[in-house]
Amino acid sequence: MIAPGATIGILGGGQLGRMLAIAAAGLGYRCHIYAPDRESVAADVSAEFTCAAWTDEAALAGFAESCDVVTFEFENVPVGPLAALAAKLLPHSRALEIAQDRLHEKGFAEELGGRPAPYVPVHSAEDLAAAIERIGAPGILKTRADGYDGKGQWRISSARDADSIRLPGAATIYEGLVHFSAEFSVILVRSQDGEIRFWDSAENVHEHGILASSALPPSAQILAQLEQARALAARIADALGYVGVLTCEFFATDAGPVFNEMAPRVHNSGHWTIEGAATSQFENHIRAICGLPLGSTASLASEVTMTNIVGPAALTAHELLSDPAAHLHLYGKREPREGRKMGHVTRLGPAPE
Ligand code: AMP
Repeated sequence: MIAPGATIGILGGGQLGRMLAIAAAGLGYRCHIYAPDRESVAADVSAEFTCAAWTDEAALAGFAESCDVVTFEFENVPVGPLAALAAKLLPHSRALEIAQDRLHEKGFAEELGGRPAPYVPVHSAEDLAAAIERIGAPGILKTRADGYDGKGQWRISSARDADSIRLPGAATIYEGLVHFSAEFSVILVRSQDGEIRFWDSAENVHEHGILASSALPPSAQILAQLEQARALAARIADALGYVGVLTCEFFATDAGPVFNEMAPRVHNSGHWTIEGAATSQFENHIRAICGLPLGSTASLASEVTMTNIVGPAALTAHELLSDPAAHLHLYGKREPREGRKMGHVTRLGPAPE
């Protein structure tokens, strides 16, 4: 067990790191943030900050030296240089390796009995034409690595559409468009001795590839598919000897749950757990990596809505506080750029008239 007062290292300096650090502080830990960007909203609430490149092995070694355990809030951290801190890293870097490559991720889920959208790796314009021929259009071309919030994705509505697409330099994958009725995520926490707990699954709504809201209760169709989706998420966690919070995103379709992707970390669709569950995803992640007993994941209300505050909407977000049931979280980011996640608001109970 990592005793309170010890230092938790967090790779990544964004809002997920900030909320992990706040939860860690509540349990008496100090946090040390490692991130390449000067502006780090996680460092703003943490005891120490190392601002250095992901590939700076000397800086990483010094960081690891100062920490009792290290975790990450960002899944695109290059895995190679992490060898220096492997002994202290939870979850293990294997989870990062898989989640960083959409091709491996889908293959891994399939091996464990999951069903992803039909997919084909694409390296050239000829590959893309062949992929469309095989899977059909519409579909989505995605970069295999480094994509997030809909970035690195191109919708293709017909084979003719594909002619006008200039392929990115990076490796890509072509996926068939899934006709889903809803999206949901399974968020679980796994302890060091293999105990797994699930939070309730919210129904997620995306706009322009970015999560807009997550709400409980989910549709009846999602509820009917949860057991199967949870069983896959648990098999993934067990196969990786995973420790901490793991998120798997699914499409609910008439033919059952379709696995979209996994995030080896706390997730935006679990922010509602701060007020809406007995123990938040952030606190249980800290508990798991520190070897503490896991807290209850039970929901505290049957209706919960988490809405993201994106871009300039943050400038007037304080007006949301006129609703006494609203819990406002602003991440302290200075520039409210279009498409940038600036905060979120959670509301327990039925939506106001
Ligand atoms: P991703 O970054 O892969 O999670 O994609 C972001 C969002 O785009 C998803 O949550 C869906 O709303 C949509 N999307 C991605 N892939 C597909 C697909 N194969 N079929 C339908 N919608 C998709």
